[in-house]
Amino acid sequence: MTSDPVTLDDLPIRDEFRGRSPYGAPQLDVPVRLNTNENSYPLPEVVVEAIAKAVTAELRELNRYPDRDATALRTDLAGYLGGGLTPAGVWAANGSNEIQQQLLQVFAGPGRVALGFTPAYSMHPLLALGTGTRWVDGRRGPDFGLTTTDAAAQVAEHQPDLVFLCSPNNPTGTALDPAVVDAVLATAPGIVVVDEAYAEFARPGTRSALELLPAHPRLVVTRTMSKAFGFAGGRLGYLAAHPAVVDAVQLVRLPYHLSALTQAAARAALAHRDTLLGTVAVIKQQRDRIVSRLRELGLPVADSDANFVLFGVGGDQRAVWRGLLERGVLVRDVGLAGWLRVTAGTPQETDAFLTAMAELNTGNGVTT
Ligand code: PMP
Repeated sequence: MTSDPVTLDDLPIRDEFRGRSPYGAPQLDVPVRLNTNENSYPLPEVVVEAIAKAVTAELRELNRYPDRDATALRTDLAGYLGGGLTPAGVWAANGSNEIQQQLLQVFAGPGRVALGFTPAYSMHPLLALGTGTRWVDGRRGPDFGLTTTDAAAQVAEHQPDLVFLCSPNNPTGTALDPAVVDAVLATAPGIVVVDEAYAEFARPGTRSALELLPAHPRLVVTRTMSKAFGFAGGRLGYLAAHPAVVDAVQLVRLPYHLSALTQAAARAALAHRDTLLGTVAVIKQQRDRIVSRLRELGLPVADSDANFVLFGVGGDQRAVWRGLLERGVLVRDVGLAGWLRVTAGTPQETDAFLTAMAELNTGNGVTT
Protein backbone atom coordinates (compact mmCIF):
# COMPACT_ATOMS: atom_id res chain seq x y z
CA MET A 1 0.00 0.00 0.00
CA THR A 2 1.37 3.46 -0.90
CA SER A 3 1.08 6.29 1.59
CA ASP A 4 -0.39 9.65 0.50
CA PRO A 5 2.04 12.50 -0.18
CA VAL A 6 1.94 14.72 2.88
CA THR A 7 4.15 17.69 2.12
CA LEU A 8 4.62 20.04 -0.79
CA ASP A 9 8.00 18.45 -1.44
CA ASP A 10 6.35 15.10 -2.14
CA LEU A 11 4.23 16.55 -4.94
CA PRO A 12 5.35 16.81 -8.58
CA ILE A 13 5.36 20.63 -8.67
CA ARG A 14 7.41 22.48 -11.32
CA ASP A 15 11.09 22.60 -10.35
CA GLU A 16 11.18 26.40 -10.24
CA PHE A 17 8.67 26.41 -7.37
CA ARG A 18 10.66 24.04 -5.14
CA GLY A 19 11.68 25.62 -1.84
CA ARG A 20 9.62 28.78 -2.43
CA SER A 21 7.06 30.31 -0.10
CA PRO A 22 3.86 32.01 -1.22
CA TYR A 23 3.79 35.83 -1.46
CA GLY A 24 2.43 37.54 1.62
CA ALA A 25 3.31 40.00 4.33
CA PRO A 26 3.29 38.56 7.84
CA GLN A 27 -0.01 39.74 9.36
CA LEU A 28 0.39 40.10 13.11
CA ASP A 29 -2.28 41.05 15.57
CA VAL A 30 -0.99 44.47 16.67
CA PRO A 31 -2.81 47.75 17.31
CA VAL A 32 -1.26 49.68 14.40
CA ARG A 33 -0.85 47.80 11.11
CA LEU A 34 1.04 49.87 8.56
CA ASN A 35 2.60 47.11 6.47
CA THR A 36 0.43 46.46 3.41
CA ASN A 37 -0.32 49.91 1.95
CA GLU A 38 -4.04 49.52 2.44
CA ASN A 39 -6.33 52.49 2.88
CA SER A 40 -6.83 52.71 6.67
CA TYR A 41 -10.33 54.17 6.38
CA PRO A 42 -13.34 51.83 6.35
CA LEU A 43 -15.99 52.57 3.70
CA PRO A 44 -18.46 55.29 4.76
CA GLU A 45 -21.99 54.07 5.57
CA VAL A 46 -23.53 55.72 2.51
CA VAL A 47 -21.22 53.71 0.23
CA VAL A 48 -21.75 50.50 2.23
CA GLU A 49 -25.49 50.88 1.70
CA ALA A 50 -25.14 51.60 -2.02
CA ILE A 51 -22.91 48.54 -2.50
CA ALA A 52 -25.28 46.34 -0.46
CA LYS A 53 -28.20 47.46 -2.63
CA ALA A 54 -26.30 46.87 -5.87
CA VAL A 55 -25.10 43.44 -4.80
CA THR A 56 -28.55 42.43 -3.54
CA ALA A 57 -30.05 43.30 -6.90
CA GLU A 58 -27.75 40.70 -8.50
CA LEU A 59 -28.57 37.86 -6.15
CA ARG A 60 -31.69 36.54 -7.81
CA GLU A 61 -29.80 36.15 -11.08
CA LEU A 62 -26.81 34.30 -9.70
CA ASN A 63 -28.08 31.25 -11.60
CA ARG A 64 -26.77 33.05 -14.71
CA TYR A 65 -23.16 33.75 -15.62
CA PRO A 66 -22.12 37.40 -15.36
CA ASP A 67 -21.42 39.72 -18.30
CA ARG A 68 -18.09 38.20 -19.32
CA ASP A 69 -17.03 41.46 -20.99
CA ALA A 70 -17.96 43.58 -17.94
CA THR A 71 -19.09 46.27 -20.38
CA ALA A 72 -20.95 48.50 -17.93
CA LEU A 73 -18.09 48.46 -15.44
CA ARG A 74 -15.52 49.18 -18.17
CA THR A 75 -17.66 52.10 -19.34
CA ASP A 76 -17.67 53.50 -15.78
CA LEU A 77 -13.91 53.00 -15.44
CA ALA A 78 -13.27 54.74 -18.77
CA GLY A 79 -15.43 57.64 -17.53
CA TYR A 80 -13.40 57.82 -14.31
CA LEU A 81 -10.06 57.89 -16.15
CA GLY A 82 -11.31 60.43 -18.73
CA GLY A 83 -8.84 61.60 -21.38
CA GLY A 84 -11.02 60.31 -24.20
CA LEU A 85 -10.65 56.66 -23.16
CA THR A 86 -13.42 54.36 -24.35
CA PRO A 87 -14.56 51.04 -22.81
CA ALA A 88 -12.81 49.24 -25.69
CA GLY A 89 -9.49 50.51 -24.29
CA VAL A 90 -10.20 49.47 -20.70
CA TRP A 91 -10.15 45.97 -19.19
CA ALA A 92 -11.00 44.87 -15.64
CA ALA A 93 -10.08 41.85 -13.49
CA ASN A 94 -9.79 40.65 -9.89
CA GLY A 95 -7.11 43.10 -8.80
CA SER A 96 -4.31 44.57 -10.90
CA ASN A 97 -2.35 41.43 -10.02
CA GLU A 98 -4.70 39.42 -12.24
CA ILE A 99 -4.44 42.05 -14.97
CA GLN A 100 -0.64 41.76 -14.88
CA GLN A 101 -0.81 37.98 -14.90
CA GLN A 102 -3.02 38.11 -18.00
CA LEU A 103 -0.56 40.51 -19.67
CA LEU A 104 2.31 38.11 -19.00
CA GLN A 105 0.27 35.14 -20.22
CA VAL A 106 -0.46 36.73 -23.56
CA PHE A 107 2.67 38.83 -24.19
CA ALA A 108 5.36 36.82 -22.37
CA GLY A 109 5.42 33.21 -21.07
CA PRO A 110 7.78 30.32 -21.93
CA GLY A 111 10.72 31.34 -24.12
CA ARG A 112 10.06 35.03 -23.52
CA VAL A 113 11.61 37.65 -21.23
CA ALA A 114 10.21 40.23 -18.81
CA LEU A 115 12.36 43.03 -17.36
CA GLY A 116 11.73 45.12 -14.23
CA PHE A 117 13.90 47.57 -12.29
CA THR A 118 14.61 46.38 -8.75
CA PRO A 119 13.55 47.35 -6.13
CA ALA A 120 10.01 47.50 -7.47
CA TYR A 121 6.78 45.61 -6.80
CA SER A 122 7.85 42.13 -5.74
CA MET A 123 4.84 40.44 -7.37
CA HIS A 124 6.12 41.31 -10.86
CA PRO A 125 8.91 38.66 -10.80
CA LEU A 126 6.59 36.18 -9.06
CA LEU A 127 3.95 36.58 -11.76
CA ALA A 128 6.69 36.07 -14.33
CA LEU A 129 7.70 32.85 -12.56
CA GLY A 130 4.12 31.59 -12.47
CA THR A 131 3.66 32.20 -16.19
CA GLY A 132 6.98 30.55 -17.13
CA THR A 133 8.47 33.89 -18.22
CA ARG A 134 12.22 34.45 -17.81
CA TRP A 135 12.67 37.39 -15.43
CA VAL A 136 15.52 39.90 -15.73
CA ASP A 137 16.25 42.00 -12.65
CA GLY A 138 17.19 45.44 -13.98
CA ARG A 139 19.19 47.92 -11.88
CA ARG A 140 18.40 51.31 -10.40
CA GLY A 141 20.84 54.03 -9.31
CA PRO A 142 22.20 54.18 -5.74
CA ASP A 143 19.32 56.51 -4.72
CA PHE A 144 16.77 54.07 -6.26
CA GLY A 145 16.41 56.46 -9.21
CA LEU A 146 16.05 55.39 -12.83
CA THR A 147 17.47 57.63 -15.55
CA THR A 148 16.41 57.62 -19.19
CA THR A 149 19.83 56.46 -20.38
CA ASP A 150 20.18 53.71 -17.81
CA ALA A 151 16.64 52.39 -18.40
CA ALA A 152 16.97 52.49 -22.19
CA ALA A 153 20.42 50.81 -22.10
CA GLN A 154 19.06 47.88 -20.06
CA VAL A 155 16.07 47.49 -22.37
CA ALA A 156 18.38 47.54 -25.39
CA GLU A 157 20.63 44.92 -23.75
CA HIS A 158 17.90 42.43 -22.74
CA GLN A 159 15.34 42.97 -25.55
CA PRO A 160 12.45 42.10 -23.21
CA ASP A 161 9.06 41.03 -24.54
CA LEU A 162 7.49 42.89 -21.63
CA VAL A 163 8.87 45.67 -19.40
CA PHE A 164 7.41 46.54 -15.99
CA LEU A 165 7.73 50.11 -14.81
CA CYS A 166 6.11 51.10 -11.53
CA SER A 167 5.02 54.68 -10.88
CA PRO A 168 4.76 55.67 -8.07
CA ASN A 169 7.22 52.88 -7.40
CA ASN A 170 6.61 50.37 -4.63
CA PRO A 171 8.58 50.21 -2.29
CA THR A 172 10.35 53.53 -2.86
CA GLY A 173 7.18 55.63 -3.29
CA THR A 174 8.60 57.95 -5.93
CA ALA A 175 6.82 58.57 -9.25
CA LEU A 176 8.72 58.03 -12.48
CA ASP A 177 9.65 60.88 -14.78
CA PRO A 178 7.47 60.36 -17.93
CA ALA A 179 10.68 60.86 -19.93
CA VAL A 180 11.83 57.45 -18.65
CA VAL A 181 8.59 55.84 -19.87
CA ASP A 182 9.16 57.57 -23.23
CA ALA A 183 12.75 56.34 -23.44
CA VAL A 184 11.72 52.77 -22.61
CA LEU A 185 8.90 52.90 -25.17
CA ALA A 186 11.33 54.13 -27.79
CA THR A 187 13.73 51.23 -27.14
CA ALA A 188 11.52 48.31 -26.09
CA PRO A 189 10.70 45.74 -28.75
CA GLY A 190 7.55 44.61 -26.89
CA ILE A 191 4.92 45.67 -24.39
CA VAL A 192 5.61 48.31 -21.73
CA VAL A 193 3.45 48.08 -18.60
CA VAL A 194 3.33 51.04 -16.22
CA ASP A 195 1.91 49.90 -12.87
CA GLU A 196 0.15 52.97 -11.45
CA ALA A 197 -1.50 51.33 -8.43
CA TYR A 198 -0.87 54.43 -6.31
CA ALA A 199 -1.46 57.13 -8.96
CA GLU A 200 -4.18 58.96 -7.04
CA PHE A 201 -1.75 59.78 -4.20
CA ALA A 202 0.85 61.49 -6.42
CA ARG A 203 2.10 64.95 -5.51
CA PRO A 204 0.72 67.88 -7.52
CA GLY A 205 2.23 68.14 -10.99
CA THR A 206 3.03 64.42 -11.29
CA ARG A 207 2.14 63.17 -14.76
CA SER A 208 0.48 59.83 -15.46
CA ALA A 209 1.54 57.55 -18.30
CA LEU A 210 -2.12 57.65 -19.38
CA GLU A 211 -1.31 60.77 -21.38
CA LEU A 212 1.16 58.78 -23.49
CA LEU A 213 -1.44 56.19 -24.53
CA PRO A 214 -2.74 57.82 -27.73
CA ALA A 215 0.74 57.73 -29.28
CA HIS A 216 1.79 54.28 -28.05
CA PRO A 217 -0.19 51.13 -28.90
CA ARG A 218 2.29 48.95 -26.97
CA LEU A 219 1.87 50.89 -23.72
CA VAL A 220 -0.37 49.48 -20.96
CA VAL A 221 -1.23 51.39 -17.78
CA THR A 222 -2.51 49.28 -14.87
CA ARG A 223 -4.54 50.75 -12.03
CA THR A 224 -6.45 49.44 -9.02
CA MET A 225 -9.34 50.29 -6.72
CA SER A 226 -7.45 48.66 -3.83
CA LYS A 227 -5.64 51.76 -2.61
CA ALA A 228 -7.21 55.20 -3.13
CA PHE A 229 -10.76 53.79 -3.31
CA GLY A 230 -10.23 51.67 -0.20
CA PHE A 231 -11.68 48.71 -2.11
CA ALA A 232 -8.88 46.16 -1.59
CA GLY A 233 -11.30 43.50 -0.35
CA GLY A 234 -13.51 44.01 -3.42
CA ARG A 235 -10.62 42.96 -5.72
CA LEU A 236 -10.90 45.23 -8.71
CA GLY A 237 -7.96 46.15 -10.91
CA TYR A 238 -7.99 47.45 -14.47
CA LEU A 239 -5.87 48.52 -17.40
CA ALA A 240 -6.01 51.24 -20.00
CA ALA A 241 -4.40 50.62 -23.38
CA HIS A 242 -5.03 50.49 -27.11
CA PRO A 243 -8.20 48.42 -27.80
CA ALA A 244 -6.01 45.83 -29.57
CA VAL A 245 -4.28 45.13 -26.23
CA VAL A 246 -7.70 44.47 -24.68
CA ASP A 247 -8.45 42.06 -27.56
CA ALA A 248 -5.17 40.28 -26.81
CA VAL A 249 -5.88 39.93 -23.09
CA GLN A 250 -9.26 38.38 -23.87
CA LEU A 251 -7.39 35.44 -25.41
CA VAL A 252 -6.19 34.36 -21.95
CA ARG A 253 -8.85 35.58 -19.53
CA LEU A 254 -10.91 32.84 -17.91
CA PRO A 255 -14.52 32.81 -19.03
CA TYR A 256 -16.61 34.89 -16.59
CA HIS A 257 -13.53 35.75 -14.53
CA LEU A 258 -15.20 38.75 -12.87
CA SER A 259 -18.22 37.78 -10.78
CA ALA A 260 -21.54 39.59 -11.08
CA LEU A 261 -21.13 40.57 -7.41
CA THR A 262 -17.70 42.11 -7.99
CA GLN A 263 -18.92 44.02 -11.03
CA ALA A 264 -21.95 45.38 -9.18
CA ALA A 265 -19.97 46.30 -6.06
CA ALA A 266 -17.25 48.04 -8.07
CA ARG A 267 -19.80 50.03 -10.07
CA ALA A 268 -21.53 51.19 -6.89
CA ALA A 269 -18.16 52.18 -5.39
CA LEU A 270 -17.23 54.09 -8.57
CA ALA A 271 -20.56 55.92 -8.49
CA HIS A 272 -19.51 57.20 -5.04
CA ARG A 273 -15.98 58.02 -6.05
CA ASP A 274 -16.06 61.58 -4.71
CA THR A 275 -16.87 60.25 -1.23
CA LEU A 276 -14.37 57.37 -1.40
CA LEU A 277 -11.53 59.45 -2.81
CA GLY A 278 -12.12 61.95 0.01
CA THR A 279 -9.62 59.99 2.10
CA VAL A 280 -6.81 60.60 -0.39
CA ALA A 281 -6.15 64.19 0.75
CA VAL A 282 -6.05 63.15 4.42
CA ILE A 283 -3.69 60.26 3.70
CA LYS A 284 -1.39 62.49 1.64
CA GLN A 285 -1.17 64.90 4.59
CA GLN A 286 -0.09 62.04 6.87
CA ARG A 287 2.37 60.85 4.22
CA ASP A 288 3.95 64.31 4.01
CA ARG A 289 4.00 64.53 7.80
CA ILE A 290 5.88 61.22 8.02
CA VAL A 291 8.39 62.35 5.38
CA SER A 292 9.18 65.66 7.08
CA ARG A 293 9.27 64.29 10.64
CA LEU A 294 11.62 61.43 9.72
CA ARG A 295 13.86 63.90 7.90
CA GLU A 296 13.86 66.06 11.05
CA LEU A 297 15.02 62.97 12.91
CA GLY A 298 17.96 62.90 10.50
CA LEU A 299 16.90 59.82 8.55
CA PRO A 300 17.14 59.42 4.76
CA VAL A 301 13.65 59.34 3.27
CA ALA A 302 12.66 58.72 -0.36
CA ASP A 303 10.27 61.28 -1.92
CA SER A 304 6.79 59.78 -1.87
CA ASP A 305 3.93 60.06 -4.35
CA ALA A 306 2.16 57.11 -2.75
CA ASN A 307 0.37 56.21 0.50
CA PHE A 308 3.59 54.88 2.02
CA VAL A 309 7.10 56.04 2.79
CA LEU A 310 10.46 54.27 2.44
CA PHE A 311 12.90 55.42 5.11
CA GLY A 312 16.47 54.58 6.06
CA VAL A 313 17.23 53.54 9.63
CA GLY A 314 21.01 53.92 9.56
CA GLY A 315 21.52 50.34 10.71
CA ASP A 316 19.94 46.91 10.81
CA GLN A 317 16.35 47.32 9.63
CA ARG A 318 15.31 44.03 11.23
CA ALA A 319 16.15 45.34 14.71
CA VAL A 320 14.18 48.54 14.08
CA TRP A 321 11.26 46.51 12.68
CA ARG A 322 11.23 44.52 15.94
CA GLY A 323 11.55 47.70 18.03
CA LEU A 324 8.50 49.16 16.31
CA LEU A 325 6.59 45.91 16.75
CA GLU A 326 7.35 45.95 20.49
CA ARG A 327 5.71 49.38 20.50
CA GLY A 328 2.61 48.02 18.76
CA VAL A 329 3.43 49.26 15.26
CA LEU A 330 3.80 46.86 12.31
CA VAL A 331 5.71 48.18 9.27
CA ARG A 332 7.18 46.30 6.29
CA ASP A 333 10.70 45.02 5.95
CA VAL A 334 10.89 44.83 2.16
CA GLY A 335 14.29 43.14 2.27
CA LEU A 336 16.33 46.27 1.51
CA ALA A 337 19.27 46.44 3.92
CA GLY A 338 18.92 49.54 6.11
CA TRP A 339 15.44 50.54 4.92
CA LEU A 340 11.84 50.02 6.05
CA ARG A 341 8.49 50.93 4.50
CA VAL A 342 5.55 52.40 6.40
CA THR A 343 2.00 52.97 5.18
CA ALA A 344 0.44 56.41 5.74
CA GLY A 345 -2.88 55.88 7.52
CA THR A 346 -4.97 57.87 9.96
CA PRO A 347 -3.50 60.74 12.04
CA GLN A 348 -3.65 58.46 15.13
CA GLU A 349 -1.72 55.70 13.34
CA THR A 350 0.85 58.24 12.21
CA ASP A 351 1.15 59.54 15.78
CA ALA A 352 1.81 56.02 17.07
CA PHE A 353 4.43 55.36 14.40
CA LEU A 354 6.23 58.69 14.82
CA THR A 355 6.24 58.42 18.61
CA ALA A 356 7.78 54.96 18.37
CA MET A 357 10.36 56.21 15.87
CA ALA A 358 11.31 59.14 18.12
CA GLU A 359 11.82 56.68 20.98
CA LEU A 360 14.03 54.48 18.84
CA ASN A 361 16.02 57.32 17.31
CA THR A 362 19.37 58.12 18.87
CA GLY A 363 20.24 60.96 16.49
CA ASN A 364 22.90 58.67 15.11
CA GLY A 365 20.78 56.09 13.34
CA VAL A 366 17.92 54.26 15.00
CA THR A 367 18.57 51.68 17.67
CA THR A 368 16.50 49.40 19.81
N1 PMP B 1 0.87 47.09 -8.01
C1 PMP B 1 1.51 47.56 -6.95
C2 PMP B 1 2.69 48.45 -7.17
C3 PMP B 1 1.10 47.22 -5.65
O1 PMP B 1 1.78 47.69 -4.59
C4 PMP B 1 -0.01 46.38 -5.48
C5 PMP B 1 -0.55 45.98 -4.13
N2 PMP B 1 0.29 45.87 -3.12
C6 PMP B 1 -0.64 45.90 -6.62
C7 PMP B 1 -0.18 46.28 -7.88
C8 PMP B 1 -1.76 44.91 -6.56
O2 PMP B 1 -2.93 45.46 -6.25
P1 PMP B 1 -4.33 44.72 -6.49
O3 PMP B 1 -4.09 43.35 -7.02
O4 PMP B 1 -4.96 44.73 -5.14
O5 PMP B 1 -5.01 45.60 -7.48
